[in-house]
Amino acid sequence: MSKTKYIFVIGGVLSGVGKGVTTASIGRIFKNYGKRVSAIKIDPYINVDAGTMNPVEHGEVYVTEDGDETDQDMGNYERFLGADLFSSNYMTTGRVYQSVIEKERSMYYKGKCVQVVPHIPFEVIDRIKKAVKHTNAEMMVVEVGGTVGEYENILFLEAARMMKLDNPDDVAIVLVGYMPVPSHLGEMKTKPTQHAARTLNNAGLQADFIIARGKYALDKPRKEKLALFCWMKPENIVSAPDVKNIYEIPGVLEKQNFGQLLAKRLKIKLDAKQRSNEWDVFLRKMETIKKTVKIAVVGKYFATGDFTLADSYISVIQAVKHAAWANGVQPEMTWIDSENYEKDPQRVEELKNFDALIVPGGFGTRGIEGIIKAIQCAREKKIPYLGLCYGMQLACIEFARNVLGYADAHTVEVNKNSKHLVINVNPYQQENINQNRYGGTMRLGSYACDLKKGSRAHQAYGQLKIGERHRHRYEFDNKYRSELEKNGFDIVGVNPETNLVEIVELKDHPYFIGVQFHPEFKSRPLAPHPLFVGLMEAALKQ
Ligand code: GLN
Repeated sequence: MSKTKYIFVIGGVLSGVGKGVTTASIGRIFKNYGKRVSAIKIDPYINVDAGTMNPVEHGEVYVTEDGDETDQDMGNYERFLGADLFSSNYMTTGRVYQSVIEKERSMYYKGKCVQVVPHIPFEVIDRIKKAVKHTNAEMMVVEVGGTVGEYENILFLEAARMMKLDNPDDVAIVLVGYMPVPSHLGEMKTKPTQHAARTLNNAGLQADFIIARGKYALDKPRKEKLALFCWMKPENIVSAPDVKNIYEIPGVLEKQNFGQLLAKRLKIKLDAKQRSNEWDVFLRKMETIKKTVKIAVVGKYFATGDFTLADSYISVIQAVKHAAWANGVQPEMTWIDSENYEKDPQRVEELKNFDALIVPGGFGTRGIEGIIKAIQCAREKKIPYLGLCYGMQLACIEFARNVLGYADAHTVEVNKNSKHLVINVNPYQQENINQNRYGGTMRLGSYACDLKKGSRAHQAYGQLKIGERHRHRYEFDNKYRSELEKNGFDIVGVNPETNLVEIVELKDHPYFIGVQFHPEFKSRPLAPHPLFVGLMEAALKQ
């Protein structure tokens, strides 16, 4: 059996330059050649998982099949690789220390002094190898969060150093550096990345490749300068200029022969005859699309600016794009702060100008009444609607209030004194809340769901048994089920073991579906999610 190959992707200069997408793109290049590729995200935070981090600060919490709450980059890996990742593909400083301490308590180290070095890097290496085993990968791309020179990630770099010293032919180091173009100079500067490469040397690592991120491509003189000062071959310095569409990046890197050079460095062969072109075909098709579809997304906190928005809802945005492209249209997404509809209820009429409405997942009280108004508008004016998690719960509440006449219908999350808690809490969840057990205790990961024959959801999925990923604490209360159904609000998806309601839809409506899970996590560019595809189809009929 051939040995597993490891590619460590490490950032320099500053964060937020697209290291995650670069990692995913490297994976995609090898996947195109038929390699079994997987990816790992290392988050330097003390948090045990991303579940307790504020999405406005940290970005979306991405949920894996096996119910881990991870970094949004894991979503990029899954989308680019077209493969599922697991809890073993994600680690944080907190998680690593937690298991070392647990092992120490159980005498695993047999009386040795347990030390930061070597035991922490040993644990990191152990976890990387476990992920290889779990995913059966022949190539593992490992993204080290943060940038070189930070105190936080030094032990992860130490793990990479140890692995490279042990097996120099099996471990490659890719430094993703940023190339600024200061406006007063108007020229691209390589110095910050030179420093990053030097700092990496201080950690005992020499970059095998540098990916030069920036607004523009590197020109020849700068490439040569960077190569000289970092003591590398110019061909090992690869440009990654800004692109309109992230899915182009594997191609941008491959055009510079990066895949072949990296393969050569790792002493593996990439056979051009084996190369699949499905990714290229998808890109070519997408580039020709001109027609647009207008999607409104209504939620809270949207006023915080585009930057945080794109990060907090990255999987929803990508799922919309995948489904729109599959329908031959480009999506125009408009983010609407639901508090607008609380201040000015008339404004909700603007939704009639859109082809479809999405209410994404969320937590808490703020902006809720505005969202409910938007859902009412979608229901009454027959605007295609997809409610994701909170978007499903609030659709149930809207119907209970405005059709069944339970004016105080609510979710226990917002008003526990309501007499009609259409969305309620299970006893075991209540216990978690009582005990302040918030980390990793929601209903998480993939659960089975049986669909009702002939429902719209059934039509969309084309099958009766599905599995989807969850992340929520509260549930639909089955007490209200028959009353809702009698009035045209259908329960069309249920968990076969627990009878929990997973999908609702309106009978007399072109497309009105609410799902307790997060279908956006399973949408891939080459395999768009059926419920989003269905929404786009309905939108185009508008
Ligand atoms: N706040 C809701 C719950 O916890 C919905 C969560 C979500 O939308 N992800 O049940």
